[in-house]
Amino acid sequence: MLDSLRLRHTFIVVLATILCAGLPSTGWTWGSVGHHYIAQHYSQHLPAYIDGLRDYDLEVDAHVTDPDTRKGSTPGESDKHYIDIDYYPEFLAGTLPRSRAALEALYSPAIVLGEGVLPWAIDKAESTLTQQFQASNWTAAALTIADLCHYVGDANMPLHCAVNYNGQLTGNTGIHSRYESSMISTYLSQLDTPAMTVVYYPSPLDAAFDVIAASWAGVAPILAADNAARAAAGGSTSGTTYYTSLWNSTHTLTQARLDTASVLTASLVYTAWMKAGQPAVPGSSGVPPLDVPPMVADAGVRLVAGPTPFRDVLTVRFAAGGPSSVDVFDVRGARVARLADNVPGEGSVTWRPGGSGAPVGPGLYFVRLSGPGTNVVRRVTLVR
Ligand SMILES: [Zn+2]
Repeated sequence: MLDSLRLRHTFIVVLATILCAGLPSTGWTWGSVGHHYIAQHYSQHLPAYIDGLRDYDLEVDAHVTDPDTRKGSTPGESDKHYIDIDYYPEFLAGTLPRSRAALEALYSPAIVLGEGVLPWAIDKAESTLTQQFQASNWTAAALTIADLCHYVGDANMPLHCAVNYNGQLTGNTGIHSRYESSMISTYLSQLDTPAMTVVYYPSPLDAAFDVIAASWAGVAPILAADNAARAAAGGSTSGTTYYTSLWNSTHTLTQARLDTASVLTASLVYTAWMKAGQPAVPGSSGVPPLDVPPMVADAGVRLVAGPTPFRDVLTVRFAAGGPSSVDVFDVRGARVARLADNVPGEGSVTWRPGGSGAPVGPGLYFVRLSGPGTNVVRRVTLVR
């Protein structure tokens, strides 16, 4: 992402570049480690009637960084990996046009290109995939899924979604690769994404813009984490103290972004298959029911509770459009725990049954995410 094409857009960035000679000249996007993580975790979410696509998992993983490789040889490729969404005042006002033509009419094609065209790259990959599914061209589709994995991955990296993409405007220069490459590589083994349910997106372009907005909200916490880590490490931005602190502050956010990237990729694959008319996918373990009803996205709402069954600790990850609460109910409908109370956005909490209060017996429990317009429930089983 830190390529020279990107750096020409604001004089501040250019100044920062001059002051900080030594920035990598080639792009690292989620580091390659993050991209491979997403490629290796997307297909577990595919429903049984299209899980024949898992036969191409190695292919997808092998090609997930191809879009980065293409930057040097394909004109226009570099601009597909990011969008400086906060360059546009309309983004913060909630009135940003999502049609590229409409935005170009407001700002000029050159500016729109220069600020990055990531959401439209996702949309384009999605329509290419739909055509390949229609033609039952599975090998070509696998390469497009690799592209989709890549661009969706970039959209979930907060620093690919902001003008201040390297912390250069706030004294955090270098945070881009410290966060996405050095930190992720060090702590990869602590990441884990469970299988989740895919949803159908009537507008993949809207899905791309929505996820970029959610991702962008992670920029300020990452910069704050960088400041705190540097303070803890006596001003240093390297070494164990710095990275331990950075990881501790951003672990939950990072996991949420990687979870979202993998399940959004699977959802867009599922969406393309739906739009293609539900062609039979060879090697799938299930047969689609006649006219599979679309599983429609619930406006950014997500609730994952696992593992299940569990013995000691249940982890609950959640996201909602507004403030939401997470509660646990027993089979009689009695609330046995409140895990989150009116938390905005997304979060991660744990439940240790009986850890503080009345003993909790083994059996079936219901984890509920609730808030204005939101009511999602997951079933979990406690074994003792
Ligand atoms: Zn990229």
